[in-house]
Amino acid sequence: MSENQQRVLVTGGAGFLGSHLCDRLIEAGHDVLCVDNFYTGSKANVDGLLAHPRFELMRHDVTFPLYVEVDRIFNLACPASPVHYQHDPVQTTKTSVHGAINMLGLAKRVGARILQASTSEVYGDPEIHPQVEGYWGRVNPIGIRSCYDEGKRCAETLFFDYWRQHNLEVKVMRIFNTYGPRMHPNDGRVVSNFIVQALKGEPITIYGDGTQTRSFCYVDDLIEGMLRLMESPADFTGPVNIGNPGEFTMLELAETVVRLVGGTSTIVYRPLPSDDPKQRQPDISLAKATFDWEPKVGLEDGLKETIAYFRHRLQA
Ligand code: NAD
Ligand code: UDP
Ligand code: UDP
Repeated sequence: MSENQQRVLVTGGAGFLGSHLCDRLIEAGHDVLCVDNFYTGSKANVDGLLAHPRFELMRHDVTFPLYVEVDRIFNLACPASPVHYQHDPVQTTKTSVHGAINMLGLAKRVGARILQASTSEVYGDPEIHPQVEGYWGRVNPIGIRSCYDEGKRCAETLFFDYWRQHNLEVKVMRIFNTYGPRMHPNDGRVVSNFIVQALKGEPITIYGDGTQTRSFCYVDDLIEGMLRLMESPADFTGPVNIGNPGEFTMLELAETVVRLVGGTSTIVYRPLPSDDPKQRQPDISLAKATFDWEPKVGLEDGLKETIAYFRHRLQA
Protein backbone atom coordinates (compact mmCIF):
# COMPACT_ATOMS: atom_id res chain seq x y z
CA MET A 1 0.00 0.00 0.00
CA SER A 2 1.43 3.42 -0.97
CA GLU A 3 1.76 6.21 1.60
CA ASN A 4 -1.33 8.14 0.48
CA GLN A 5 -3.50 5.10 -0.10
CA GLN A 6 -6.40 4.80 2.32
CA ARG A 7 -8.78 1.98 3.21
CA VAL A 8 -12.14 3.64 2.71
CA LEU A 9 -15.56 2.41 3.77
CA VAL A 10 -18.53 3.79 1.84
CA THR A 11 -21.91 2.88 3.34
CA GLY A 12 -24.74 3.17 0.84
CA GLY A 13 -22.02 2.76 -1.78
CA ALA A 14 -24.29 1.03 -4.30
CA GLY A 15 -26.67 4.00 -4.38
CA PHE A 16 -26.73 7.04 -6.62
CA LEU A 17 -24.19 9.25 -4.80
CA GLY A 18 -22.29 6.36 -3.21
CA SER A 19 -21.47 4.70 -6.52
CA HIS A 20 -20.04 7.94 -7.95
CA LEU A 21 -18.01 8.36 -4.77
CA CYS A 22 -16.65 4.79 -5.10
CA ASP A 23 -15.61 5.57 -8.70
CA ARG A 24 -13.67 8.64 -7.60
CA LEU A 25 -12.00 6.87 -4.66
CA ILE A 26 -10.86 3.98 -6.86
CA GLU A 27 -9.54 6.46 -9.45
CA ALA A 28 -7.58 8.18 -6.67
CA GLY A 29 -5.85 4.87 -5.84
CA HIS A 30 -7.64 3.98 -2.61
CA ASP A 31 -8.90 0.65 -1.35
CA VAL A 32 -12.71 0.78 -1.26
CA LEU A 33 -15.12 -1.30 0.80
CA CYS A 34 -18.66 -0.65 -0.39
CA VAL A 35 -21.35 -1.67 2.11
CA ASP A 36 -25.00 -1.69 1.07
CA ASN A 37 -28.19 -3.64 1.79
CA PHE A 38 -29.55 -2.83 -1.71
CA TYR A 39 -32.69 -1.22 -0.28
CA THR A 40 -32.65 1.43 -3.00
CA GLY A 41 -29.22 0.87 -4.51
CA SER A 42 -28.15 -1.90 -6.86
CA LYS A 43 -25.16 -3.95 -7.95
CA ALA A 44 -25.61 -2.47 -11.43
CA ASN A 45 -24.48 0.92 -10.09
CA VAL A 46 -21.07 -0.51 -9.20
CA ASP A 47 -20.86 -3.00 -12.08
CA GLY A 48 -17.83 -1.23 -13.50
CA LEU A 49 -15.94 -1.68 -10.23
CA LEU A 50 -16.76 -5.29 -9.30
CA ALA A 51 -13.71 -6.74 -11.04
CA HIS A 52 -11.35 -4.11 -9.68
CA PRO A 53 -8.73 -5.54 -7.28
CA ARG A 54 -9.03 -2.58 -4.89
CA PHE A 55 -12.86 -2.74 -4.73
CA GLU A 56 -14.97 -4.94 -2.48
CA LEU A 57 -18.76 -5.08 -2.23
CA MET A 58 -20.43 -6.33 0.97
CA ARG A 59 -24.16 -6.83 1.50
CA HIS A 60 -24.82 -5.54 4.99
CA ASP A 61 -27.39 -3.45 6.83
CA VAL A 62 -25.76 -0.65 8.84
CA THR A 63 -28.34 -0.96 11.62
CA PHE A 64 -26.27 -4.02 12.64
CA PRO A 65 -22.68 -3.75 13.94
CA LEU A 66 -19.84 -3.97 11.46
CA TYR A 67 -16.28 -4.93 12.33
CA VAL A 68 -13.75 -3.95 9.67
CA GLU A 69 -10.43 -2.07 9.62
CA VAL A 70 -10.52 1.22 7.71
CA ASP A 71 -9.00 4.73 7.72
CA ARG A 72 -11.99 6.69 6.39
CA ILE A 73 -15.77 6.21 6.61
CA PHE A 74 -18.26 7.93 4.33
CA ASN A 75 -21.67 7.24 5.90
CA LEU A 76 -24.21 7.55 3.07
CA ALA A 77 -26.54 4.64 3.81
CA CYS A 78 -30.14 5.90 3.91
CA PRO A 79 -32.95 6.05 1.37
CA ALA A 80 -33.05 9.64 0.11
CA SER A 81 -36.23 10.02 -1.91
CA PRO A 82 -39.51 10.78 -0.08
CA VAL A 83 -41.25 7.83 -1.80
CA HIS A 84 -38.61 5.42 -0.50
CA TYR A 85 -37.96 6.83 2.93
CA GLN A 86 -41.69 6.97 3.64
CA HIS A 87 -42.23 3.38 2.50
CA ASP A 88 -40.82 2.03 5.78
CA PRO A 89 -40.38 5.08 8.02
CA VAL A 90 -39.30 3.09 11.08
CA GLN A 91 -36.49 1.47 9.12
CA THR A 92 -35.51 4.94 7.83
CA THR A 93 -35.04 6.29 11.35
CA LYS A 94 -33.22 3.11 12.39
CA THR A 95 -30.88 3.43 9.43
CA SER A 96 -29.99 7.03 10.29
CA VAL A 97 -29.75 6.58 14.06
CA HIS A 98 -28.56 3.00 14.65
CA GLY A 99 -26.48 3.28 11.47
CA ALA A 100 -24.75 6.40 12.79
CA ILE A 101 -24.12 4.80 16.21
CA ASN A 102 -22.58 1.70 14.62
CA MET A 103 -20.41 3.66 12.19
CA LEU A 104 -19.30 6.06 14.95
CA GLY A 105 -18.53 3.10 17.20
CA LEU A 106 -16.49 1.61 14.38
CA ALA A 107 -14.69 4.94 13.76
CA LYS A 108 -13.94 5.17 17.49
CA ARG A 109 -12.50 1.65 17.69
CA VAL A 110 -10.21 1.98 14.66
CA GLY A 111 -9.48 5.74 14.88
CA ALA A 112 -11.00 6.46 11.48
CA ARG A 113 -12.14 9.85 10.27
CA ILE A 114 -15.88 9.76 9.52
CA LEU A 115 -18.15 11.85 7.27
CA GLN A 116 -21.92 11.97 7.57
CA ALA A 117 -24.14 12.58 4.53
CA SER A 118 -26.63 14.88 6.19
CA THR A 119 -29.17 16.92 4.30
CA SER A 120 -30.74 20.31 3.70
CA GLU A 121 -33.88 18.66 5.14
CA VAL A 122 -32.49 19.42 8.61
CA TYR A 123 -33.64 23.00 7.86
CA GLY A 124 -37.19 21.74 7.24
CA ASP A 125 -39.47 24.39 5.74
CA PRO A 126 -37.03 27.25 6.38
CA GLU A 127 -37.85 30.76 7.60
CA ILE A 128 -34.55 32.18 6.41
CA HIS A 129 -33.29 32.27 2.87
CA PRO A 130 -30.77 31.23 1.67
CA GLN A 131 -30.01 28.73 4.44
CA VAL A 132 -26.81 29.16 6.44
CA GLU A 133 -25.33 26.45 8.64
CA GLY A 134 -26.10 28.42 11.82
CA TYR A 135 -29.84 28.19 11.17
CA TRP A 136 -31.51 25.55 13.42
CA GLY A 137 -34.36 24.76 11.07
CA ARG A 138 -38.11 24.37 11.20
CA VAL A 139 -38.94 20.67 11.17
CA ASN A 140 -42.20 18.96 12.03
CA PRO A 141 -41.26 16.16 14.47
CA ILE A 142 -44.37 14.05 13.82
CA GLY A 143 -45.08 14.42 10.09
CA ILE A 144 -44.58 12.08 7.15
CA ARG A 145 -41.11 13.50 6.39
CA SER A 146 -39.99 13.36 10.03
CA CYS A 147 -38.46 9.86 9.86
CA TYR A 148 -35.93 11.27 7.42
CA ASP A 149 -35.51 14.81 8.76
CA GLU A 150 -35.37 13.91 12.44
CA GLY A 151 -33.33 10.78 11.77
CA LYS A 152 -30.72 12.92 10.03
CA ARG A 153 -30.88 15.57 12.77
CA CYS A 154 -30.30 12.89 15.42
CA ALA A 155 -27.39 11.51 13.39
CA GLU A 156 -25.85 15.00 13.42
CA THR A 157 -26.32 15.12 17.21
CA LEU A 158 -24.56 11.76 17.55
CA PHE A 159 -21.67 12.94 15.37
CA PHE A 160 -21.14 16.01 17.54
CA ASP A 161 -21.48 14.03 20.78
CA TYR A 162 -18.89 11.47 19.64
CA TRP A 163 -16.69 14.42 18.66
CA ARG A 164 -17.07 16.12 22.08
CA GLN A 165 -17.05 12.94 24.15
CA HIS A 166 -14.56 10.74 22.28
CA ASN A 167 -12.53 13.25 20.19
CA LEU A 168 -13.46 11.61 16.91
CA GLU A 169 -12.56 13.37 13.67
CA VAL A 170 -16.02 14.05 12.24
CA LYS A 171 -17.28 15.88 9.15
CA VAL A 172 -20.95 16.72 8.73
CA MET A 173 -22.06 17.57 5.21
CA ARG A 174 -25.50 19.05 4.51
CA ILE A 175 -26.32 17.96 0.98
CA PHE A 176 -28.84 19.94 -1.06
CA ASN A 177 -30.85 18.34 -3.91
CA THR A 178 -28.44 16.52 -6.18
CA TYR A 179 -29.11 14.89 -9.54
CA GLY A 180 -27.28 13.08 -12.32
CA PRO A 181 -26.72 9.73 -14.00
CA ARG A 182 -27.59 6.61 -11.91
CA MET A 183 -30.60 8.17 -10.23
CA HIS A 184 -33.20 5.44 -10.23
CA PRO A 185 -35.92 5.95 -12.89
CA ASN A 186 -38.61 5.17 -10.26
CA ASP A 187 -36.82 7.10 -7.57
CA GLY A 188 -39.72 9.55 -7.25
CA ARG A 189 -37.51 12.62 -7.00
CA VAL A 190 -38.39 15.56 -9.15
CA VAL A 191 -35.51 15.53 -11.64
CA SER A 192 -35.79 11.83 -12.45
CA ASN A 193 -39.61 12.02 -12.57
CA PHE A 194 -39.65 14.95 -14.99
CA ILE A 195 -36.97 13.52 -17.29
CA VAL A 196 -38.55 10.07 -17.47
CA GLN A 197 -41.99 11.59 -18.08
CA ALA A 198 -40.64 13.88 -20.83
CA LEU A 199 -38.77 11.02 -22.52
CA LYS A 200 -41.89 8.84 -22.50
CA GLY A 201 -44.05 11.73 -23.75
CA GLU A 202 -46.17 11.50 -20.60
CA PRO A 203 -47.53 14.54 -18.74
CA ILE A 204 -45.15 16.21 -16.29
CA THR A 205 -46.52 15.94 -12.74
CA ILE A 206 -46.16 19.15 -10.75
CA TYR A 207 -47.07 18.87 -7.08
CA GLY A 208 -48.84 21.98 -5.83
CA ASP A 209 -48.73 25.09 -8.02
CA GLY A 210 -45.06 24.63 -8.99
CA THR A 211 -43.87 27.87 -7.38
CA GLN A 212 -41.90 26.03 -4.69
CA THR A 213 -38.15 26.20 -5.29
CA ARG A 214 -35.17 23.88 -5.06
CA SER A 215 -31.49 24.37 -5.88
CA PHE A 216 -30.04 21.51 -7.92
CA CYS A 217 -26.43 20.35 -7.76
CA TYR A 218 -24.86 18.09 -10.38
CA VAL A 219 -23.44 14.87 -8.94
CA ASP A 220 -19.80 15.45 -10.04
CA ASP A 221 -19.70 18.79 -8.20
CA LEU A 222 -21.24 17.23 -5.12
CA ILE A 223 -18.70 14.38 -4.96
CA GLU A 224 -15.82 16.83 -5.38
CA GLY A 225 -17.17 18.76 -2.38
CA MET A 226 -17.50 15.56 -0.37
CA LEU A 227 -13.89 14.53 -1.06
CA ARG A 228 -12.58 18.01 -0.21
CA LEU A 229 -14.55 18.09 3.03
CA MET A 230 -13.18 14.69 4.09
CA GLU A 231 -9.60 15.90 3.61
CA SER A 232 -10.22 19.34 5.16
CA PRO A 233 -8.21 20.25 8.31
CA ALA A 234 -8.80 17.84 11.22
CA ASP A 235 -10.35 20.54 13.42
CA PHE A 236 -13.01 21.41 10.83
CA THR A 237 -16.16 19.47 11.63
CA GLY A 238 -18.82 21.40 9.73
CA PRO A 239 -21.76 21.19 9.44
CA VAL A 240 -21.22 22.57 5.97
CA ASN A 241 -23.67 23.09 3.11
CA ILE A 242 -22.83 21.54 -0.24
CA GLY A 243 -25.15 22.40 -3.08
CA ASN A 244 -25.60 24.63 -6.08
CA PRO A 245 -27.08 28.04 -5.20
CA GLY A 246 -28.87 28.24 -8.58
CA GLU A 247 -32.52 28.25 -7.46
CA PHE A 248 -35.47 27.27 -9.67
CA THR A 249 -39.21 26.84 -9.30
CA MET A 250 -40.58 23.39 -10.19
CA LEU A 251 -42.40 25.05 -13.09
CA GLU A 252 -39.09 26.40 -14.43
CA LEU A 253 -37.53 22.97 -14.02
CA ALA A 254 -40.42 21.32 -15.89
CA GLU A 255 -40.17 23.79 -18.77
CA THR A 256 -36.40 23.37 -19.00
CA VAL A 257 -36.61 19.58 -19.03
CA VAL A 258 -39.32 19.54 -21.71
CA ARG A 259 -37.31 21.97 -23.87
CA LEU A 260 -34.08 19.95 -23.53
CA VAL A 261 -35.77 16.62 -24.19
CA GLY A 262 -37.61 18.17 -27.13
CA GLY A 263 -40.82 16.31 -26.29
CA THR A 264 -44.44 17.33 -26.35
CA SER A 265 -45.29 16.66 -22.70
CA THR A 266 -47.96 18.81 -21.12
CA ILE A 267 -48.06 19.73 -17.43
CA VAL A 268 -50.56 18.25 -14.95
CA TYR A 269 -50.99 19.40 -11.37
CA ARG A 270 -51.15 17.01 -8.39
CA PRO A 271 -51.70 17.72 -4.68
CA LEU A 272 -48.70 19.05 -2.78
CA PRO A 273 -47.50 16.44 -0.23
CA SER A 274 -47.69 17.63 3.38
CA ASP A 275 -44.68 19.40 4.90
CA ASP A 276 -43.18 19.98 1.42
CA PRO A 277 -40.65 22.82 1.91
CA LYS A 278 -41.59 26.01 0.04
CA GLN A 279 -38.10 27.11 -0.85
CA ARG A 280 -34.54 25.95 -0.52
CA GLN A 281 -31.19 27.46 -1.45
CA PRO A 282 -27.77 26.85 0.09
CA ASP A 283 -25.46 29.57 1.30
CA ILE A 284 -22.10 28.00 0.37
CA SER A 285 -19.71 30.65 1.74
CA LEU A 286 -18.38 28.27 4.40
CA ALA A 287 -17.40 25.57 1.88
CA LYS A 288 -15.79 28.20 -0.36
CA ALA A 289 -13.79 29.70 2.49
CA THR A 290 -12.74 26.41 4.12
CA PHE A 291 -11.85 24.11 1.23
CA ASP A 292 -12.24 26.32 -1.83
CA TRP A 293 -15.23 24.47 -3.23
CA GLU A 294 -17.96 25.74 -5.48
CA PRO A 295 -20.05 23.99 -8.14
CA LYS A 296 -18.99 24.23 -11.78
CA VAL A 297 -21.85 22.57 -13.69
CA GLY A 298 -24.93 24.66 -14.50
CA LEU A 299 -28.43 23.20 -14.53
CA GLU A 300 -28.79 22.88 -18.32
CA ASP A 301 -25.42 21.13 -18.79
CA GLY A 302 -26.13 18.77 -15.91
CA LEU A 303 -29.63 18.03 -17.18
CA LYS A 304 -28.25 17.20 -20.65
CA GLU A 305 -25.94 14.56 -19.13
CA THR A 306 -28.77 13.17 -17.03
CA ILE A 307 -31.21 13.08 -19.94
CA ALA A 308 -28.63 11.20 -22.04
CA TYR A 309 -28.27 8.64 -19.23
CA PHE A 310 -32.03 8.07 -18.88
CA ARG A 311 -32.52 7.93 -22.66
CA HIS A 312 -29.95 5.15 -22.86
CA ARG A 313 -31.41 3.37 -19.82
CA LEU A 314 -34.99 3.47 -21.05
CA GLN A 315 -33.93 2.10 -24.45
CA ALA A 316 -32.03 -0.79 -22.84
P1 NAD B 1 -29.81 6.31 -2.77
O1 NAD B 1 -31.12 5.84 -2.29
O2 NAD B 1 -29.48 6.14 -4.21
O3 NAD B 1 -28.62 5.68 -1.93
C1 NAD B 1 -28.75 5.25 -0.61
C2 NAD B 1 -28.05 3.90 -0.49
O4 NAD B 1 -28.12 3.46 0.87
C3 NAD B 1 -28.73 2.81 -1.33
O5 NAD B 1 -27.77 2.11 -2.08
C4 NAD B 1 -29.41 1.93 -0.29
O6 NAD B 1 -29.56 0.59 -0.73
C5 NAD B 1 -28.47 2.07 0.89
N1 NAD B 1 -29.08 1.79 2.18
C6 NAD B 1 -30.28 2.21 2.65
N2 NAD B 1 -30.49 1.74 3.89
C7 NAD B 1 -29.41 0.98 4.22
C8 NAD B 1 -29.03 0.24 5.36
N3 NAD B 1 -29.83 0.16 6.44
N4 NAD B 1 -27.84 -0.41 5.34
C9 NAD B 1 -27.03 -0.35 4.26
N5 NAD B 1 -27.34 0.35 3.15
C10 NAD B 1 -28.50 1.01 3.13
O7 NAD B 1 -29.70 7.87 -2.37
P2 NAD B 1 -28.57 8.94 -2.66
O8 NAD B 1 -29.20 10.08 -3.36
O9 NAD B 1 -27.36 8.32 -3.23
O10 NAD B 1 -28.26 9.44 -1.17
C11 NAD B 1 -27.08 9.06 -0.49
C12 NAD B 1 -27.01 9.80 0.83
O11 NAD B 1 -26.98 11.21 0.61
C13 NAD B 1 -28.19 9.54 1.75
O12 NAD B 1 -27.73 9.44 3.08
C14 NAD B 1 -29.06 10.76 1.57
O13 NAD B 1 -29.83 11.02 2.71
C15 NAD B 1 -28.02 11.83 1.33
N6 NAD B 1 -28.57 12.97 0.59
C16 NAD B 1 -28.84 12.87 -0.74
C17 NAD B 1 -29.40 13.95 -1.42
C18 NAD B 1 -29.69 13.91 -2.89
O14 NAD B 1 -30.24 14.89 -3.42
N7 NAD B 1 -29.35 12.89 -3.62
C19 NAD B 1 -29.71 15.12 -0.72
C20 NAD B 1 -29.45 15.17 0.64
C21 NAD B 1 -28.87 14.09 1.29
N1 UDP C 1 -19.60 -1.00 16.64
C1 UDP C 1 -19.44 -1.53 15.39
N2 UDP C 1 -18.17 -1.78 14.96
C2 UDP C 1 -17.07 -1.54 15.72
C3 UDP C 1 -17.28 -1.00 17.01
C4 UDP C 1 -18.56 -0.73 17.44
O1 UDP C 1 -20.38 -1.73 14.65
O2 UDP C 1 -15.97 -1.81 15.26
C5 UDP C 1 -20.97 -0.69 17.08
C6 UDP C 1 -21.45 -1.54 18.23
O3 UDP C 1 -22.73 -2.04 17.89
C7 UDP C 1 -21.61 -0.55 19.35
C8 UDP C 1 -21.78 0.78 18.66
O4 UDP C 1 -21.00 0.67 17.48
O5 UDP C 1 -22.74 -0.82 20.14
C9 UDP C 1 -21.32 1.98 19.45
O6 UDP C 1 -20.00 1.75 19.84
P1 UDP C 1 -19.40 2.46 21.14
O7 UDP C 1 -18.01 1.96 21.32
O8 UDP C 1 -19.55 3.92 21.01
O9 UDP C 1 -20.35 2.06 22.30
P2 UDP C 1 -20.65 0.67 23.04
O10 UDP C 1 -22.10 0.41 22.80
O11 UDP C 1 -19.76 -0.39 22.44
O12 UDP C 1 -20.32 0.95 24.45
N1 UDP D 1 -42.16 17.31 -7.13
C1 UDP D 1 -43.00 17.57 -8.20
N2 UDP D 1 -43.28 16.54 -9.06
C2 UDP D 1 -42.74 15.31 -8.94
C3 UDP D 1 -41.86 15.05 -7.86
C4 UDP D 1 -41.60 16.08 -6.97
O1 UDP D 1 -43.50 18.70 -8.37
O2 UDP D 1 -43.04 14.44 -9.77
C5 UDP D 1 -41.83 18.43 -6.22
C6 UDP D 1 -41.93 18.09 -4.73
O3 UDP D 1 -43.23 18.29 -4.27
C7 UDP D 1 -40.94 19.09 -4.14
C8 UDP D 1 -39.87 19.24 -5.23
O4 UDP D 1 -40.49 18.77 -6.44
O5 UDP D 1 -41.55 20.34 -3.95
C9 UDP D 1 -38.62 18.42 -4.96
O6 UDP D 1 -39.02 17.09 -4.66
P1 UDP D 1 -37.97 15.91 -4.41
O7 UDP D 1 -38.76 14.74 -3.95
O8 UDP D 1 -37.10 15.75 -5.59
O9 UDP D 1 -37.00 16.45 -3.26
P2 UDP D 1 -37.25 17.13 -1.82
O10 UDP D 1 -38.68 17.50 -1.65
O11 UDP D 1 -36.82 16.09 -0.86
O12 UDP D 1 -36.38 18.32 -1.86
